[in-house]
Amino acid sequence: MDFGEGLRKAIAKLRGATIIDLKTIREFNRELQRAMISSDVDIALVASFTKRIEDAATKEKLPDGVTPKDYITNMVYEELVKLMGRSYEPEIRPKRVLLVGMYGSGKTTTSAKLAKFYQDRGLSAGLICCDVSRPAAYEQLETLAKQINVQFFGIRDEKDVRKIVKDGLKTMKDRKVIICDSSGRSAFDRQLVQELKQITGEFAPDEKFLVINADTGQVAGKQAREFDEAVGISGVIVTKMDGSGKGGGALSAVSSANARVTFLGVGEKMNALELYNSEKFVGRLLGIPDIESLVKNVNEAIKEAKISPEEMNAEKLNFDTFYTQLKAMKNMGPMKNMLGMLGMADVPKNVVEEGESKLVKYKAIIGSMTKSERQDERLLKEHSRITRIAKGSGTNEKDVRMLIGDFNKMKKMYDMFKNDRNVKKNMSKFMKFG
Ligand code: GDP
Ligand code: MG
Repeated sequence: MDFGEGLRKAIAKLRGATIIDLKTIREFNRELQRAMISSDVDIALVASFTKRIEDAATKEKLPDGVTPKDYITNMVYEELVKLMGRSYEPEIRPKRVLLVGMYGSGKTTTSAKLAKFYQDRGLSAGLICCDVSRPAAYEQLETLAKQINVQFFGIRDEKDVRKIVKDGLKTMKDRKVIICDSSGRSAFDRQLVQELKQITGEFAPDEKFLVINADTGQVAGKQAREFDEAVGISGVIVTKMDGSGKGGGALSAVSSANARVTFLGVGEKMNALELYNSEKFVGRLLGIPDIESLVKNVNEAIKEAKISPEEMNAEKLNFDTFYTQLKAMKNMGPMKNMLGMLGMADVPKNVVEEGESKLVKYKAIIGSMTKSERQDERLLKEHSRITRIAKGSGTNEKDVRMLIGDFNKMKKMYDMFKNDRNVKKNMSKFMKFG
């Protein structure tokens, strides 16, 4: 089973679980360990990572408004980002790039795409064909070069890659970015190593990219190690991301060669090249396409959890104080009368009367809000927040809207007496009771 598959299975199971207890977490961690270790991720790293997950799930107080599932998913995401990088932004400056990889991985196509990428950004580009083993390699690259209007160099039937590179560099003296395509093999062998070493010696590339296709599983680790030992890999390009492959091999490749994911091939056309971006790539690897919003929510909640209580305006009515007050009202039956005496007929009476069940529901709803939502009810004008809170609290949108309605009634009452110090003093005395 390839890394992505194992990981997606574990994540899907975690996300489908109704309760996250120690048993669920341990099982999840075992599957995660299996998937990561089979992808050549360092064992010590995997062990400390799964330990952190267990601690977070069992010992840490999770920030409000975040479910354990989302919290753990976010941890897994961040850990993968540490390994694979958050995003890739190549420097737009003159450089020499060598592409290596197995036969059929997409080297030739990608060399041309890269040449176009730099040329589109104002750097003249040239392509050198150093694939001396595949008969039609010369024509293939030449055709692509013509198509994208990039200079091409190769020597038909020449087997000495040093000569090709030397002559090529001479011909392309004025080119800013020079990209060299190399031979592939169906298996890694001595001759290829020798050839690649000769190319590197003569070409002195700034970047040496290993090209793998998105279907490559665990074996990508072995490939990366071999190519890395031969020439030193600085980055990985994953091609055919437009197909069914999810690019799970990339993790094996980057951990084995200590490199980063750089570009992605997303089609056969010359402009089908994207820059690596963890939200898209890792999201797909985890089987969670909208990982972006999950990560954003969790990080916001983590940030909010760090806000000290002093920073909160204690006197203001918000969802935090609202709950405390409802509880106080419920505990103090006679309060109804007191409020009536004060002329506050608009108190959410039904809240007081319906009692426990409603309070329990409201508690869950408020617990699913982020700190900023609890402190600023205006945020709940966004429909997507209501949907999220309803989902997170196991209630429905109608319940959330009911709570907002009750809140608004109390808010009105609050505003009515805002300037009456006496009433306020009395009120806060009662309210603190809860
Ligand atoms: P090489 O042997 O490593 O040089 O691989 P090639 O560049 O010749 O590519 C092998 C095949 O994969 C060709 O048919 C390419 O059109 C195709 N290919 C390369 N990159 C992509 C990609 O990102 N998406 C798709 N769908 N096909 C690709
Ligand atoms: Mg080729």
